Amino acid sequence: RLYNEVQDLKGNIRVYCRIRPFLPGQSKKQTTIEYIGENGELIIANPSKQGSRRLFKFNKVFSPISTQEEVFLDTQPLIRSVLDGFNVCIFAYGQTGSGKTYTMSGPSVSSTMDWGVNYRALNDLFQISQTRKSSIAYEVNVQMVEIYNEQYKPIRTFLFLPNLVINFISFNLHTLGIWNTSQPNGLAVPDASMHPVKSTTDVLELMNIGLMNRAVGATAINERSSRSHSILTVHVHGMDLKTDTVLRGNLHLVDLAGSERVDRSEATGDRLREAQHINKSLSALGDVIFALAQKSAHVPYRNSKLTQVLQSSLGGQAKTLMFVQLNPDVESYGETISTLKFAERVS
Ligand code: ADP
Ligand code: MG
Repeated sequence: RLYNEVQDLKGNIRVYCRIRPFLPGQSKKQTTIEYIGENGELIIANPSKQGSRRLFKFNKVFSPISTQEEVFLDTQPLIRSVLDGFNVCIFAYGQTGSGKTYTMSGPSVSSTMDWGVNYRALNDLFQISQTRKSSIAYEVNVQMVEIYNEQYKPIRTFLFLPNLVINFISFNLHTLGIWNTSQPNGLAVPDASMHPVKSTTDVLELMNIGLMNRAVGATAINERSSRSHSILTVHVHGMDLKTDTVLRGNLHLVDLAGSERVDRSEATGDRLREAQHINKSLSALGDVIFALAQKSAHVPYRNSKLTQVLQSSLGGQAKTLMFVQLNPDVESYGETISTLKFAERVS
């Protein structure tokens, strides 16, 4: 089939595709990307498979040379709507190595050019809230959790170096305060501490500590990060000073677990269990977004922790953006097609 149109824009669900470049040092391999259109068209083909050309349609396709800034510019309106009281979920979906973390966090935090959606989003939210501060008093809290094997883990799990744990906790207790989310804040993520933040620097500091520890944790943690979903939630509370009305908006930035299929004949034990949990939660997410796109009366939120946690921010007035990440390498052709099938269903 040559033509396989994915419907453009249904309600509040948007799907962007981003193709990562071949990496420096990677021997030049064949690409599956045949054509990227201005209006979200993408043609994929396996060069060694005749008749394998297929056309997909997204709201937007970012090519391997698209910058972090370009990607953010098309995400910004959605992020800003959080300040008006909307709930927004932004996901990165794709196989391990396709650029999910690059898009959501970026390759490093030291250079602002490298910043991914999450740092840029927070920076932007703080800037806008500053410009509005004479009419609306905003309060911003962030939470970081991961879902691993259908269990929540506060991101503090990553802070295992004793000196950093101490820094982190004292930083929060004394300068920011820690409290539990059993308080009414519009979202139920049990057991994750809430960190009120006053500026992008506060957030950077928090996230840096998390990142640093993940890096120090080397392979074990990095490997695991591809098998867990990590969610950065930004809670925005705005008090309109003239009317005394309260606006609440949540922004969820979700770096999903790798979508690659695990060979059942090879995986055993923990690896198989992880794969089953990932499979279950990613298909539950697909089912929820599909139901929402179809405007179905029943939306199956209860089928995974991921969709339960995000329930209040998926559907209704909430806005959803999915980054579908692709590795252009011909060796990834099978995973690319399966990623695109997922995207086709939720678009
Ligand atoms: P994932 O989180 O999906 O496993 P990563 O974000 O870690 O994938 O990306 C894999 C590798 O590709 C990393 O070295 C990353 O820096 C690089 N990479 C991903 N996307 C891009 C991009 N758009 N431009 C340059 N390098 C990228
Ligand atoms: Mg990653």
